[in-house]
Amino acid sequence: LSNPNSSSRVLASSLNRSMTDASLTQPIQATLFPGDGIGPEIAESVKQVLSAAAVPIEWEEHFVGDTVDPRTQSFLTWESLESVRRNRVGLKGPMATPVGKGHRSLNLTLRKELGLYSNVRPCYSLPGYKTRYDDVNLVTIRENTEGEYSGLEHQVVRGVVESIKIITRQASLRVAEYAFHYAKTNGRGRVSAIHKANIMRKTDGLFLTCCREVAEKYPEITYEEVIIDNCCMMLVKNPALFDVLVMPNLYGDIISDLCAGLVGGLGLTPSCNIGEGGICLAEAVHGSAPDIAGKNLANPTALLLSSVMMLRHLNLNDQAEQIHSAIVKTIADGKYRTGDLGGSSTTTEFTKAIVDNL
Ligand code: NAD
Repeated sequence: LSNPNSSSRVLASSLNRSMTDASLTQPIQATLFPGDGIGPEIAESVKQVLSAAAVPIEWEEHFVGDTVDPRTQSFLTWESLESVRRNRVGLKGPMATPVGKGHRSLNLTLRKELGLYSNVRPCYSLPGYKTRYDDVNLVTIRENTEGEYSGLEHQVVRGVVESIKIITRQASLRVAEYAFHYAKTNGRGRVSAIHKANIMRKTDGLFLTCCREVAEKYPEITYEEVIIDNCCMMLVKNPALFDVLVMPNLYGDIISDLCAGLVGGLGLTPSCNIGEGGICLAEAVHGSAPDIAGKNLANPTALLLSSVMMLRHLNLNDQAEQIHSAIVKTIADGKYRTGDLGGSSTTTEFTKAIVDNL
């Protein structure tokens, strides 16, 4: 399990705070968005586990409102954004987006307003939880601000709609630089750029040009380019072929769910959004899971592992390790597992088992 430990070192190094575990006297303010659906249940689990591990964090909790804030054009208020800007560290639950209508995605608003340019999604086999593979250990780095997510869609004429995919040199260089730097500082030897430049010649073509440019600065890292459809096939056949994968926004969204499936599902995979000025906003890869919301059935592991990424970013490495070990032990013991992992424990029972294993 070198991956989660090492994956955070680069996060930690990007934090411009001078503190060590021992020197901490003041609690650290961190923003918490419990989010929608299962969000409040799994956020409660995180609060309980971090509190039991005596993590010196004071949560500044912000709920998604029920009216649109005219300054953000979304249900996310300006005050919520200011909280992340001020604290520069936070944890976010899933936020639901209506399909094909309704308000603008809150996730998009957050990414845009906070300049969250890279989304780091580690995916590794959990010891003690058997899936088809026991050696998955890769990291998806997703460009987080543009591509098909630019929100530029309109009707050209009746029956014809247009969606514009934006790729810029600036954002592509930034995420490529992040990916190579991440690989270098985390002892990873290979970066694969995932693309469809055979068809999207201009957009993905520019993305690749930028990746190549950055690759030249890192001769010690092996660089390769893999077309996305082939990448899916290779991942399912042999995920050990991959190490760090960097890709445009939409591909990252899809590939990271595929990767989650390789290690046991969406209940297990964490992520961290990296933003301008060293902002770290951690969140699970999964969504609000409306099918199980409010039933005490959700697996809080993905959000807990996201909080572990956040703690490593804060250099709270001892507590991060302690919580990580307790999660792994609880799942490996097998007595308390949530339904998605084949068990029958509630979120509350699983959380208590983790606390007992701290
Ligand atoms: P989803 O990830 O919410 O759920 C997919 C499946 O995985 C469901 O069967 C769900 O029960 C299961 N699942 C997800 N997380 C789980 C967990 N922690 N424990 C146990 N089972 C879990 O995807 P969806 O159903 O496509 O999306 C639902 C809503 O979430 C949509 O409104 C979507 O826009 C939103 N969403 C938000 C984010 C985010 O906030 N970052 C990400 C993805 C989807």
